[in-house]
Amino acid sequence: MGSVGAKEVPVLLGPDGRRIDGRKVDELRPIAITAGPLHQADGSAFVEWGQNKVMAAVYGPREVHPRHLQENNKAIVQCRYNMAAFSVDERKRPGLDRRSQEISKVIAEAFESVIFVEEYPRTSIDVYIEVLQANAGTRCAGVVAASVALADAGIPMVDLVPAVAVGKVGDAVVLDLKKEEDNFGSADLPMALVPQSGRLVLLQMEGHLSRDELARALDLGVVGCRKIYEVMKQALRDRYRTDGPGPAAEGMAA
Ligand code: UDP
Repeated sequence: MGSVGAKEVPVLLGPDGRRIDGRKVDELRPIAITAGPLHQADGSAFVEWGQNKVMAAVYGPREVHPRHLQENNKAIVQCRYNMAAFSVDERKRPGLDRRSQEISKVIAEAFESVIFVEEYPRTSIDVYIEVLQANAGTRCAGVVAASVALADAGIPMVDLVPAVAVGKVGDAVVLDLKKEEDNFGSADLPMALVPQSGRLVLLQMEGHLSRDELARALDLGVVGCRKIYEVMKQALRDRYRTDGPGPAAEGMAA
């Protein structure tokens, strides 16, 4: 172990081109999505993605609180992203910090651009994202969970919105950063895509990439998003299969 305060930098990219967890540069962490696990919410989804565990719940369209935020010609989309105190190695201080506020804002804006908000004037669509376990990419996992939860709530949208972070470790542009890659890599670029049109509705960047690397990162992210899109659609199909689990089947058994 190193001295107090010194952080040992792990080897992020092996000589065989494999990453710290054995993945190839263009490989996603395993992802599983459950649609509709919460019966109290209008829509919900649980995403397990690598070591991330993220729950999303959607309520609405419903009355706007606080009232002065109400818009006469459209619904507003409010999002609260929160990381549980127990979600990370070093306990996170509970409550909204600047990071959570920023993430909540960019996610709300992403969804406002895909939901048909003009169909529900004077209402609010409320999206809650709770990170129960975090290992980098939680805002993307949050977007994926919220997107499936919105569809589960029956909110009309142009499309589902898959998301993934791409970045750079060593000399390589890589897909879906895990914690060590996020901490010790040289770039982190979360993005969210509308698959049918190819429009990006969320794009942030920390670190440095050359123009070529940026182009490669975007290409890699789009391919990753399209794979996640398939898992999202399957989660919704599983939810609404007549023989599948869920509130309807449970209701009949009771
Ligand atoms: N993280 C942490 N404590 C914090 C914020 C973040 O340990 O207060 C960790 C957590 O694992 C998170 C990762 O750092 O997933 C990367 O955080 P970032 O701000 O890049 O957002 P994310 O990648 O989760 O969207």
